[in-house]
Amino acid sequence: MATSPSLVHVVWELTLKCDLACKHCGSRAGKPRAAELTTAECLDVVAQLAELGAKEVSLIGGEAYLREDWDVIAAAIVDAGMVCTMVSGGRSWDRERAIRALAAGVASVSVSIDGMARAHDEQRGLLGSFASAVASMRTLREAGVEVTANSQLNKRSVPDLDAMLDLFVDRGVTGWQVAMTVPMGRAAERPEWLLQPHDLLELFPKLAELATRARAAGVHVFPGNNVGYFGPHEDTLRGVTFSGTGFEHFEGCVAGVSLLGVEADGAIKGCPSLPTGAYTGGNVRERPIRAIWDAAAELAFARDPRAMTSELWGFCGGCYYASVCRGGCSWTAHVFFGRRGNNPYCHHRALEHAKAGLRERLVQIERAPGVPFDHGRFEVVVERAQVDGAPEASRDGISRRP
Ligand code: SF4
Ligand code: SF4
Repeated sequence: MATSPSLVHVVWELTLKCDLACKHCGSRAGKPRAAELTTAECLDVVAQLAELGAKEVSLIGGEAYLREDWDVIAAAIVDAGMVCTMVSGGRSWDRERAIRALAAGVASVSVSIDGMARAHDEQRGLLGSFASAVASMRTLREAGVEVTANSQLNKRSVPDLDAMLDLFVDRGVTGWQVAMTVPMGRAAERPEWLLQPHDLLELFPKLAELATRARAAGVHVFPGNNVGYFGPHEDTLRGVTFSGTGFEHFEGCVAGVSLLGVEADGAIKGCPSLPTGAYTGGNVRERPIRAIWDAAAELAFARDPRAMTSELWGFCGGCYYASVCRGGCSWTAHVFFGRRGNNPYCHHRALEHAKAGLRERLVQIERAPGVPFDHGRFEVVVERAQVDGAPEASRDGISRRP
């Protein structure tokens, strides 16, 4: 039976303009989009989102504060009865900006930090961007704005996770969201930065250890929807809600179910991360958001769990958890393989391969064309797990899956 969609969370790219040049940016941000929404159009979007029943709107970019009217839009969101949060690269939060956020009623600002200074600056494409992000955290806190953090998990950032937690505790951060770097946008040009599926065997115990340590220090670690799934640490990572109560486990993609993405030129998707071409259901300049939400097929794919389960393929197609998980994050699967329904970043999957003495490796076979939210194509090589001290030859590919 189809799930009735009920909008909770909107992630809104206010502008594609950015003051960083991140080498792993999925939207290839930098310059604004050709025809970004005007202030009047944005305020109309706010009214439509409130009418649809949205509870929270997260403003992202690019860098949202580079729009002159960002705090006018934030205040309108709050005035309409919704929670407004922001996600920021943290390049330039001076006191005046922080006070504007506070005055607008912004509930929290999540600053992106992807490793300690060297790793972060390398990924962000700008020397000194780590120092700026850390300084922004301080400025925001001193102004009275709640600060959280978000980090990409990749070959560059993972060695720094312990030091990052120490930093966040020191900065009074209350929440830390981690998400896997996936090959979308500029990240598709750096496949060597991506974690391999078998790296999850080490990553997940580390994340569980960090989550436990963080909780004791008052920081709530929460895994993004593409940090998957169902291994022995699911309870530690997803079992405690932000309020510290309740039990959760991954319950499938929520694109178009409780989540909506708005792009700066008014394109509407079920999830902000999904590729624009395949998943845009319409534009606010052409149709009311409610009409897009109710009728666009591009937003409806996750609303029927049975149909979604039936379209799983590859390892996910035969998975024990398939009917609950439904192939994990649609975005992650799509940007690796060009279609959803088979998710390589899954702890359960890595463990099942390890049990059989195998591991999976992702190999890029097609480059990304070079437009926002684009992706290339990868294939999975299944190979014998490397035995300690064994020569390279023990990694011979034994089968390939598209
Ligand atoms: S293998 Fe696929 S369906 Fe199974 S838990 Fe992992 S992501 Fe979900
Ligand atoms: S595509 Fe991934 S990130 Fe987007 S809603 Fe689905 S699970 Fe979440």
